[in-house]
Amino acid sequence: MPEEILDDDSILLCSNCFRDEGLRIDSNKIGVESSEECPNCNSSSGKKLTQQLIQELAWRFFVSGTTIRCEYGAAPVIQCNEYHYGKSDISPSAWLENDIKLIEEAAKIGFFHYGPRLWMVGEVEPLKDLQQESSRDKIIERVLQEYPEKLFANGTKFYRLRVNPNNPAAPEEYDSPPLEFSGRGRLDSTEFSVMYGSQDIDVCIHECRASADDDIYVATFITVRELRLLDLTHILEEDNTEFESLDMAIHMLFLAKSHSYEICRAIAKAAKHAGFDGVIYPSFFSLMRTGGHPFETSYGLSLRRYHPEREKYVGAYTIENFALFGHPLQAELVKIDSINRLIITQVGYQGHFGPVEY
Ligand SMILES: [Zn+2]
Repeated sequence: MPEEILDDDSILLCSNCFRDEGLRIDSNKIGVESSEECPNCNSSSGKKLTQQLIQELAWRFFVSGTTIRCEYGAAPVIQCNEYHYGKSDISPSAWLENDIKLIEEAAKIGFFHYGPRLWMVGEVEPLKDLQQESSRDKIIERVLQEYPEKLFANGTKFYRLRVNPNNPAAPEEYDSPPLEFSGRGRLDSTEFSVMYGSQDIDVCIHECRASADDDIYVATFITVRELRLLDLTHILEEDNTEFESLDMAIHMLFLAKSHSYEICRAIAKAAKHAGFDGVIYPSFFSLMRTGGHPFETSYGLSLRRYHPEREKYVGAYTIENFALFGHPLQAELVKIDSINRLIITQVGYQGHFGPVEY
């Protein structure tokens, strides 16, 4: 999203200006309350929109709202910017036509069909090499060399959830599952158990796909010695393009669905082999939980790489999850601090709208 700072906070439109129900609801969410009359539709009850808010609304509805996920990566079908002002070329539903004109005029932007740069849809060399078994090991070797180690100090607290355990009060229920139940998650294999944990309980709930019908328990663990983890959430400093970026490859890998697990498992095994106690990796649910947008760009450049406050930008959208190898409880790397039943009273996704055709 273009980040121009506009100091003009005069009101141009309001949520009642729009015909499309999704735009009305989204603009009602981001608009500001004011008893001033809307200069466009004269409503005093609609939430008021400044030029900056209209630009935000346009990005959220038309760019984020048309983003399509690919096997690896994701890209919006529509983009908007000031260079296309007066030259919009999209074909929206009839009920959106006038709404778009209002937005274009107020925000001085135009909408256009976006041909994504190919890295956004997974054309990233190290990622392609990871997908090929013949070249996978050489990239994993780079991963082990280029990503840093992070130490969990003795006494670090974390959580682990279990859904419907047989004996909820028994500590061993919360260790890694036995091998015969391994091999279904992102990092565990049939011959390799891991214990998934997080310092964020909400992430645990999402990661284990718990619903309000489940009987859920949460164990609070404490590490009993220093643990060495390979930190895959680290942002690599690179001087190449997105097409050659290992950082982008790993970022995309952990935001991809289950077809990517085979590669993640190979990385986990290599990390174990190299002597690590576990790996820290970006949660698949980072984006949902933090409201981030995958592979966000500004004029075709990845914000992950080129944002002026890069670490802060990436940090705000990354939730760290980790996996400890083997059976950490049995091996006395960690101990149970307490176990609680967890009652979910609300499962909510905050959403926004997008167009149905363009
Ligand atoms: Zn209005």
